[in-house]
Amino acid sequence: MGQRVGIFGGTFDPPHVGHLLLALDALDHLALDRLIFVPAARQPLKQGVAMTPAEHRLAMTEALAAADFRFSVDGSEVARGGLSYTVDTVRALKAALPDAELILLMGADTAATLPQWREPEALGLLVQVAVAGRGAEPMQLPAGFRAQPFPMRRVDISATEIRARVAEGRSIRGFVPDAVADYIAAHGLYRTTTE
Ligand code: ATP
Repeated sequence: MGQRVGIFGGTFDPPHVGHLLLALDALDHLALDRLIFVPAARQPLKQGVAMTPAEHRLAMTEALAAADFRFSVDGSEVARGGLSYTVDTVRALKAALPDAELILLMGADTAATLPQWREPEALGLLVQVAVAGRGAEPMQLPAGFRAQPFPMRRVDISATEIRARVAEGRSIRGFVPDAVADYIAAHGLYRTTTE
C-alpha cells in the first residue's frame, strides 16, 4: 500500500492556527502518513489582491510546518512563479510519488470555487478532495470529484484578520505560531495594508 499524502495549498499570507489545526485534524481523521503544504506563487482566483512576496510566505509556512514531523513544505509553485494551478502541482507530485494516494485538503470556502479551477475534471481523477468541516452542508462539486468531508474543529481566524490586526498595531500572539509571529515582527510585514 502506498502512503496517504495530504496536499494543502494556499496563499498562507500569513499561515495561521486555522491552517495548522486543519492540517493536524486531517492527519488524524484521514490517517495521513504525510502532509505537504504548498504556498502558491499567485492564486488565479486572487488576482489583483496585493500579496506578500513569496519568499516570506514560504519561510513562514516552513515555520508553521515545524509543528509536526509529518509536515513538509513544497516550494515548487513559488519556484515556478506566475499563476499557480493546482493541477500542475498535483501532476508533478504524482510523478515524484507514483505509489502515493494523494488527498487534496481545503476549507469549504475554497471547495466552493473548485468548478473555476483549471482542468477540474482531470484534477478530480488525480486526487481525492477532503473538505474540512462538520460535513453538515452538502457540497456541489464538479462531476468526477471524490469529496470526503472530514471533521475539523471550528477556528474563526483568517489571514485577512491577522493582516488587519498587525496594521492596527494589535497583537497576533495565539493567532499564529510564535515562530510565525516572530518572523512577521522581524521583517516588519503587514504594517501597512492596502485592504
Ligand atoms: P485570506 O484571509 O487572505 O483569504 P485564508 O486565511 O483564507 O486567507 P488561505 O491561504 O487563502 O488562508 O487558505 C488556504 C486554505 O486554508 C483554504 O482551503 C481555506 O479554506 C483554508 N482555511 C483558511 N482559514 C481556515 C480556517 N480558519 N478554518 C478552516 N480552513 C481554513
